[in-house]
Amino acid sequence: MRPFVYERAADPAAAVRLAARPGREPPTRAPVQFLAGGTNIIDYMRLDVTRPEVLVDLNGMQAQLGRIEAGPDGLRLGALVRMADVADHPAVVRDYPVIAQALLQSASAQIRNMGALGGNVLQRTRCQYFRDVGWRACNKREPGSGCAAIGGVNRKHAVLGVSDHCIAAYAGDFGQALVALDASVETLGPHGPRRIRFEDLHRPPADTPHIETVLAPGELITGFVVPAGPWTRRSLYLKIRDRQSFEFALASAAVALELEDGQVRQARIALGGVATRPWRAHEAEAVLQGQPMTPESARAAAKAAFASAEPHGANDFKPELGRRTLVRALVQAAAQEA
Ligand code: SF4
Repeated sequence: MRPFVYERAADPAAAVRLAARPGREPPTRAPVQFLAGGTNIIDYMRLDVTRPEVLVDLNGMQAQLGRIEAGPDGLRLGALVRMADVADHPAVVRDYPVIAQALLQSASAQIRNMGALGGNVLQRTRCQYFRDVGWRACNKREPGSGCAAIGGVNRKHAVLGVSDHCIAAYAGDFGQALVALDASVETLGPHGPRRIRFEDLHRPPADTPHIETVLAPGELITGFVVPAGPWTRRSLYLKIRDRQSFEFALASAAVALELEDGQVRQARIALGGVATRPWRAHEAEAVLQGQPMTPESARAAAKAAFASAEPHGANDFKPELGRRTLVRALVQAAAQEA
């Protein structure tokens, strides 16, 4: 691992100030990154994929960023809350099951005990070419170098939201639950606080796959806001993977339904394992609007969800797996108590 400067911040404003200290701002700014659970960034620093010169440790600000608050208007989750604490929280399990299920199906118990929510949504892709610096061609790691996965080993790569420059799949699960529940992310940056729709946090790869989010340099995620709604209780997360634990999704679906007399009043659908970022399936939602919630309508929605899929050989199976995953998720959600 390369040497780096380690600094501690006492509160979010101090962390942002440290990240923007003279000499660290663009264009001369040294790469500064925030450290919370460290389960992803330390891994990538050891692999020499990520090379921060300064790490700003956030773990001294649990009082400000470590709270779970559930109320009539919704749920607020601090960015430093550990994954396991959310997955076990009674109000989350009861009222926002898709969040609890997505987190419980993420990683190992040890990582869930350590991993913080803010870092979880920013985790980097598991594309093997990205993780292995022995491969030269990776536009995400070395802009302009090419993409070894296009024409290479791409069984686990994305089929939605891909570009000619990158087809890496987004690796997380929690992000799909946030998208399906219309959540927002709160941040604090050099220019003050702001709130961003979670659906807009991650950028499509386009021709700049190394720029993964809309966050500005030195902008810190402080929390997540999930609005209350009649769809949150009838929600679930279904994850299909090569093995049943400690594995990333081949395909996943986060769904939240509001039904009235068996008809869909509102459907919210996000897909994982198949897309370059947490993927909102608006086309599938439109197909279900006002329709009876049946296996047939679920299949029509799933077909719409993957209409724009672009597989690359070894992942040709993903559109069909993704459709089946979504159909099963919708049917199971419709059958559960709201
Ligand atoms: Fe790199 Fe993206 Fe290509 Fe993987 S898919 S090699 S991350 S550019």
